[in-house]
Amino acid sequence: MTTSSTIKLNSGYEMPIVGFGCWKVTNETAADQIYNAIKTGYRLFDGAQDYGNEKEVGEGINRAIKDGLVKREELFITSKLWNNFHDPKNVELALDKTLSDLNLEYLDLFLIHFPIAFKFVPIEEKYPPGFYCGDGNNFHYENVPLLDTWKALEKLVQKGKIRSIGISNFTGALIYDLIRGATIKPSVLQIEHHPYLQQPKLIEYVQKQNIAITAYSSFGPQSFLELESKRALDTPTLFEHKTIKSIAEKHGKTPAQVLLRWATQRNIAVIPKSNNPARLAQNLSVVDFDLSKEDIQEISALDIGVRFNDPWDWDNIPIFV
Ligand code: NAD
Repeated sequence: MTTSSTIKLNSGYEMPIVGFGCWKVTNETAADQIYNAIKTGYRLFDGAQDYGNEKEVGEGINRAIKDGLVKREELFITSKLWNNFHDPKNVELALDKTLSDLNLEYLDLFLIHFPIAFKFVPIEEKYPPGFYCGDGNNFHYENVPLLDTWKALEKLVQKGKIRSIGISNFTGALIYDLIRGATIKPSVLQIEHHPYLQQPKLIEYVQKQNIAITAYSSFGPQSFLELESKRALDTPTLFEHKTIKSIAEKHGKTPAQVLLRWATQRNIAVIPKSNNPARLAQNLSVVDFDLSKEDIQEISALDIGVRFNDPWDWDNIPIFV
């Protein structure tokens, strides 16, 4: 099986199947990293208001456009609406902040980052607010049903500020319900997805709905080691896992490429992040070889249901219970 290097979204637009993830890319390095990633061939950039680096990401993008490396329409730029901006009256305000930080006229994709509404925090007070809800370290929530936030996003599509809209960290029941009320169906669901957390039924349901899936944290615990997550420290690295290593050796590829191909071969987009030039290039070439049926079955057996990104850890927020 070969895979095309883009996924056709239900909005009619094409999304590259491999992109560059902007989480934890520092403000000092972001502009150059994005510029270099574009030079290496990346066209999809997965950002978010919460990553606190949209100005620098935009600087890298605009420098590359100005230098003639790419045209805006060849890029696919994603951002995510942060939890404090779910109230319909704040959604456009938040999008406008992202567009002005990125210095772009439209987004290719805007996702609801989490199905969680925090209390609104004015941009002048703290941006991005992160876990701040206007009161020190205390969490405060807003009574905003997800469909209301979704309807506000639909209006911004009609206004031409966003091409496609989607969701992130949503589970089956929420998606099932959202589709009941949506006028524009979500184009993309972005979820944590790696051999230790596979969620095959969610993927089957969502793909059958013609909603594309983007996997984040494809390398499992790796990304969360930087955050000193105990769960990540207690979980064996996938790069050294004997199953992944032996499949990689058999194909003459790296374990990282096997982990990414395992997703792309099932038409799931990936958005790995690296600031190392060799890895940057290696992560991009993950559609030009095929894993065998047996390889895929062996990887399926590694599922242990371990989730590294869980709002239960923030304030016992039960989105994945
Ligand atoms: P990731 O799985 O891409 O892992 C990144 C880590 O792997 C880094 O430590 C990097 O140095 C290392 N790495 C990258 N390529 C490698 C290679 N070829 N060989 C060895 N090591 C390599 O982690 P991530 O950043 O958690 O996820 C990717 C992107 O997904 C993020 O940047 C972000 O855009 C998105 N994301 C979204 C959400 C969400 O809630 N929607 C949550 C987490 C991440």
